[in-house]
Amino acid sequence: MPRHPHLDEYIRPCEEVLARLDALYMACPDYPKEPGIDKTASFSDLAARAEGIQRCPSCGKAPLDLVMMDALKILVDYGLRSRSDSLRAVGWPLVEVGYPLAYPPRLGPRELIIVGENLTKEATVEIVERVPEIKGVIRGGGVPGVADLRAGPTRWELLAGSDLRCDVVSSLIGELVIYKHQSKIHVEFPRQAAPKMKILEELYFRGKMTTVADVLAGPGTLGLVAALGGASRVVLNDAWLPAVEDAILNLEANQSILGIEKIERHKTPAGEVGREPSLVAEAWGDGCKIEVYFGDAERLFSRAEPTDLCLIDPFPGMKFDRIAEACGVCGEIVVV
Ligand SMILES: [Zn+2]
Repeated sequence: MPRHPHLDEYIRPCEEVLARLDALYMACPDYPKEPGIDKTASFSDLAARAEGIQRCPSCGKAPLDLVMMDALKILVDYGLRSRSDSLRAVGWPLVEVGYPLAYPPRLGPRELIIVGENLTKEATVEIVERVPEIKGVIRGGGVPGVADLRAGPTRWELLAGSDLRCDVVSSLIGELVIYKHQSKIHVEFPRQAAPKMKILEELYFRGKMTTVADVLAGPGTLGLVAALGGASRVVLNDAWLPAVEDAILNLEANQSILGIEKIERHKTPAGEVGREPSLVAEAWGDGCKIEVYFGDAERLFSRAEPTDLCLIDPFPGMKFDRIAEACGVCGEIVVV
C-alpha cells in the first residue's frame, strides 16, 4: 500500500519525542523472548528456522532480526544478496529515534532506516512497501556531507521511503532532539556524541556560554545545546546546504524547549555548497538570538560578529588549521 509522504516526513516537537522514549522500542511483558538470531548464519539456514518468529500478537511490534530477515528475503529474490549471506549483509540498521538502548529494539511502523551497499531502487521500493517497520532505504558508502570544500560533497542516495530520523541529545544542560535527513548528514549516535557533551558541560559550568559560534554546525547540535545553556547569542554555520536546512528544522522542532518566539528565514543563495557566508535564518526568544549562516567557515567572521566562544567540530580526519586561524578573532576556540 502506498504511503502518505507527509507521514514519513512528520516532525514531532522535542517534548513529544522525549515523552515517548520510555516505552519506545520496548517489548510487551508477555511477548516471547528475543529471537536472538545468529547474525552470521546464512539466509538458507535462517529461512528454515525463522518461520516461528512473529510480530507481537498484542502490540504488533517486530524484533529487529525479523525486520532484517524480511528485507534480506526481498534482496535475495532480487538477486542482490545470495542465499549464503547473513542478516549483516542487508546493511546498517538505524532506528528512527536514536538514543542509547540497553536492549535490541522492538519496531513499530516506519521506525527503521537501512543504509546498505549494492542496492537497487526497484528492490528497495518493494522493501519499503512490504516491510511495514522500514521507513526508508539509503544507498551508502563513505561519509555523507562536506568534509573538504575543495573536494566537494560525498553523497548517499535515498532509494526509497524517507531518510528523516532524529537523535536525542542528552546532557547535564538539558535534552534536545536533532533531526537529520540521514542520506545527507553523517551518522553520529548519541553515545558517540557523549564526549562532545562532556566538553560542552564543562564549558557551561565554567560560565563560558555567553556568545557561542558553532562554525561546522551540521544539523546544529552543539550550537543548540549552547542556546539551551543560556547563551545570549548563538551563531550556527555550515557550508553544506542540507545541513543548514536541517539546522533550521531543528530550531523549529526545539522551539519551545529553547524558548524561541520567532524564526525568520532569509533568501538562500543558489547551490548546495556555500562559499561566501550568507545569513539564511534568525531566531529570537528567551534572551537569546540565534543566527544561521550558510558558507565557508574560514570566511564566517568576515560577515558574522565574532563570539566569546568558538566551537570547531571537524569531521574525523578533516584539516581545520585554516578555520582555526580564521576563528582567532573570537575570544576562545575549543575543538570538540
Ligand atoms: Zn507487544
